[in-house]
Amino acid sequence: MPEIVTIECPSCEESFCNGDYNEDNPSDMCSCGNIAIEIIKYENSKYPFYVGISYEKEKPIIDAIMIEDDDD
Ligand SMILES: [Zn+2]
Repeated sequence: MPEIVTIECPSCEESFCNGDYNEDNPSDMCSCGNIAIEIIKYENSKYPFYVGISYEKEKPIIDAIMIEDDDD
């Protein structure tokens, strides 16, 4: 069963999904401004970009949640 990575702000409890960010949607910030998400590009990398997470005060809670499989 696949899992997705979630990033939650411990201050405002807003959460983000790693997979929501790409070149068309490159950055975001939680409502209290603690967590900022941006995509980072490296030259000569196998991958087009990475999702970078930075925070001001409180460390984000990073977790992986299971996606229910609808085929059952
Ligand atoms: Zn926040």
